[in-house]
Amino acid sequence: MEANSAKGTILLIEDEDEIADLVQMFFEQEGFRFVRAVDGEAGVERVREREPRVVLLDIGLPGIDGVEACKRIRAISDVPVLMLTARDSEIDKVVGLEIGADDYITKPFSPRELVARVRAVLRRAEERPTAPSVVEVDDYVIDSGRREVRLPDGVVVRPTAREFDLVWYLAERRGLVLSRAQILEGVWGYDYFGETRTVDVHVRQLRKKLPDVPIETVWGVGYRMSD
Ligand code: CA
Repeated sequence: MEANSAKGTILLIEDEDEIADLVQMFFEQEGFRFVRAVDGEAGVERVREREPRVVLLDIGLPGIDGVEACKRIRAISDVPVLMLTARDSEIDKVVGLEIGADDYITKPFSPRELVARVRAVLRRAEERPTAPSVVEVDDYVIDSGRREVRLPDGVVVRPTAREFDLVWYLAERRGLVLSRAQILEGVWGYDYFGETRTVDVHVRQLRKKLPDVPIETVWGVGYRMSD
């Protein structure tokens, strides 16, 4: 069994005490250290001071909102950020904007599901290859050691953690048609309860950042990176 200290600290930035108490209880039962902040500015400070392994960030906060807090966290840390969204309409705001969040969960969520998501985030972070490995697609170099994409003109693009996992997953399997469900399983690491549009939103982001990387839509199925 993993030692508690190895599990690290979870930071929750949430202004609703009832939710925060419940979430804290579940994570502490699982052996995580738990730190809380009730607004975005305090949350960003906690990231600096406590170096958490995962941040759970509510969107609706007093003062700066979760979107702004996420941007500020990204400016100082690569810590995985999981957003807590109150409404479906907020989801596009989270995944569509380039704020660097790794995942999101819609309220009301079960604490058990939240713990499962955090475990998946931690597992992915641990499974990242330590030996640099590179895939070339057309004249693009996708580098999993540096987690960056080098364009033919020498420009370096650093997608968000999740976007990089996605482009890497497609590039390693180039030529193969992959269903959205396969991609969710492979990149997100679990069944996303049918929320396959997450894949579409992230592909759209990748196409914006890497317009000439050949990610094809295969209608009715999913995606393929062409050879
Ligand atoms: Ca709130």
